[in-house]
Amino acid sequence: MSKDMDLKKHIRSIPDFPKPGILFYDISTLLAHPKAWHTTIERLADLIRPHKPDVLAGIESRGFLLAAPLALALGTGFVMLRKKGKLPGTTVRHTYALEYGTDTIEIQQDAVHKGARVVLVDDLLATGGTMAAAVELLESVGAVVPTAACIIELTFLEGRKKLKPPVETLLQYD
Ligand code: 5GP
Repeated sequence: MSKDMDLKKHIRSIPDFPKPGILFYDISTLLAHPKAWHTTIERLADLIRPHKPDVLAGIESRGFLLAAPLALALGTGFVMLRKKGKLPGTTVRHTYALEYGTDTIEIQQDAVHKGARVVLVDDLLATGGTMAAAVELLESVGAVVPTAACIIELTFLEGRKKLKPPVETLLQYD
């Protein structure tokens, strides 16, 4: 781990993905670099620790890549928030609006205890729609969400304004 490592150097931006006009921040290069990835997990763990989580919830799919090693680093459990129809057993769903159409995320009904402190984890905060939906879903099964955390925040989209909990982000782009 390096204290002064510049993690932005390990993130690629790819124009016109997934649609013309969108600049996509690609974390594949960060994942592929062991030192940069280790530093990412350590720094996010330091941001999340003060919120005293019982559990981390990862948003499918890149959120899983972060939440699993972070849960090990912090000594917490890990739960999955998945797209519709992927989880077995009784689930609870939340449907939310996208630019065009809707999307649905799910959690297993018994995944968290009532009153558990669940920190939400994803790779990137853009408009905030995904994280806001995940907070609503977690609260609907009785969780308390003290914070949400991600690697990248696109500050110009002001996604954090859509969220009830504060957001911890490692890298900001405007
Ligand atoms: P939002 O709902 O905040 O508008 O979008 C955030 C969600 O879209 C996250 O789950 C994130 O994985 C994905 N996403 C949107 N734009 C990007 C991007 O530029 N790079 C990456 N890695 N993910 C993105």
